[in-house]
Amino acid sequence: MAQIITVLGMVIASQPIGEYDRRIVILTREKGKVTAFAKGARRQNSSLLAATNSFAFGKFFLYEGRSSYTVHQAEIQNYFSEFRTNLKAVWYGMYFLEVADYFTKENNDEKEMLKLLYQTMRALLSPSVDNELIRYIFEFKSMVINGEYPNIFECSKCGEAVKSAFFEPEKFQVTCKNCTEDVKRNYELSQSAVYTLQYIAGTSVEKLYTFTVSPDVFLQIKKVIEICGKKVIDRKFKSEEFLQNNNF
Ligand SMILES: [Zn+2]
Repeated sequence: MAQIITVLGMVIASQPIGEYDRRIVILTREKGKVTAFAKGARRQNSSLLAATNSFAFGKFFLYEGRSSYTVHQAEIQNYFSEFRTNLKAVWYGMYFLEVADYFTKENNDEKEMLKLLYQTMRALLSPSVDNELIRYIFEFKSMVINGEYPNIFECSKCGEAVKSAFFEPEKFQVTCKNCTEDVKRNYELSQSAVYTLQYIAGTSVEKLYTFTVSPDVFLQIKKVIEICGKKVIDRKFKSEEFLQNNNF
């Protein structure tokens, strides 16, 4: 008899297989990223029809086979169905799913990434935070969770805590004003921009989407996070191109 396991997670990818089935990827609290087969999930009367759509978040009961998982049942807590009526939010959401897929692995501890993804989707549906700001906060926090980001707390040369600073794209590091050698080739960051990056890196996921910034600070952090993204993520996502082409 195959064993049934229970996992809590979010469907981050869903693709049709054959006539009625689906293959889904779930980012789970217990087992990292898991790929599972959902038999008959595209039949109109299937209990798995909505549960195997991207964004569905809840408990999944899986048969653990020798080399793959099969979805037995699901208890969905949040379908994020509001996305269906909000085109802009859904494309941002798809982009976040692709980034999460990129960063996560099977049988790895992905609790923080799952938490981040869930809170990010909730923030996307809240009118109080700007979608573009959510995007850059999400990108930077993903890099922080995965340990691939520049130290933005201390100067890389003298070790002093930084207030305002310079970001050196080529060396992927931050220096204080006294230690910066090449002012022209580096990006100057105001004290507020440095503080914003430090806040994103240091705060808990639950408190991440609780602030807004001035347009000037936004441009500064956007620039740094874009440079970090290019260095850390060696892929261009389909959803990212769509966001770009539609000026979202
Ligand atoms: Zn220094």
